[in-house]
Amino acid sequence: SNIFFRPIEKINAVIESYPKGIAGFKRYLEIMDTEPEIADAPYAKDVDAVKGEIRYEGVSFSYDEGRDILKGINLRIYAGETVAFVGPSGAGKTTICSLLPRFYEVTGGRITIDGIDIRDMKLQSLRKHIGIVQQDVFLFSGTIRENIAYGDLSASEEQIWEAARRASLEDIIRSLPNGMDTVIGERGVKLSGGQKQRLSIARMFLKNPPILILDEATSALDTETEALIQQSLSELSEGRTTLVIAHRLTTIKNADRIIVVNKEGIAEQGNHQELITSGGIYSRLHEAQYSS
Ligand code: ATP
Repeated sequence: SNIFFRPIEKINAVIESYPKGIAGFKRYLEIMDTEPEIADAPYAKDVDAVKGEIRYEGVSFSYDEGRDILKGINLRIYAGETVAFVGPSGAGKTTICSLLPRFYEVTGGRITIDGIDIRDMKLQSLRKHIGIVQQDVFLFSGTIRENIAYGDLSASEEQIWEAARRASLEDIIRSLPNGMDTVIGERGVKLSGGQKQRLSIARMFLKNPPILILDEATSALDTETEALIQQSLSELSEGRTTLVIAHRLTTIKNADRIIVVNKEGIAEQGNHQELITSGGIYSRLHEAQYSS
């Protein structure tokens, strides 16, 4: 086997089991010397396939004792549904999503997938079903092929190209001198922000998880790149339960449901039109942010 993959598998394993939040994905070197992963409960099960219905039942959470970030959140997300979390900075959108792959443990209540408490699943089994796409994607020094496959030794050349194509990355790869074999990262070709995002999307097409967490980019991309990425993301979320920490109006407008989060919890929910019509927080937020 390819020796190059061995450190990747290690890093991958550490990242997949890293208990300290989505932010932790950004700096894998720091990950290497943090505490070991949450132990599986002795009765924890392997869960092979899930449809992806998610429920938060009275979920409370605090990072530090005495300061509750979430207080009894109730939420039901249907299999295949796309929900967009919106609300002021610090309201807890990222926190809500971080609890699902168990980067943090709930301090009260429970989260279920297809009715199964996520603490009753083996951590590896749980995270196999959840894909994360984010702006600051973790790339390692290696070829584009290796970065798309991300430690998946069973991925065929055809599957890797298919993932690249669906992520609108094919033309870019073909234009590089060494194609799929182009080395990226510290010692190789530097990818732009938009290219990195597409690479992370390609990874997810390959991983093919039933549940997606999309931590949407806040940085500006050119209009064409933006449109390509939006297109790939909407294709990616097709048929998957998708939780978006949303910043872009198009994403929010296209979501099946918008969930407005504020310091008090979930303030209101509905689709764009419903929330505009009802004239609550969302409509004011929308007015303030997007109207000129
Ligand atoms: P943004 O839109 O700015 O990303 P958000 O709605 O996603 O905000 P969170 O990142 O979930 O909000 O943060 C919710 C609260 O939890 C904030 O008060 C934040 O300061 C706090 N918080 C977030 N991460 C940690 C952490 N690792 N340790 C302690 N407090 C944290």
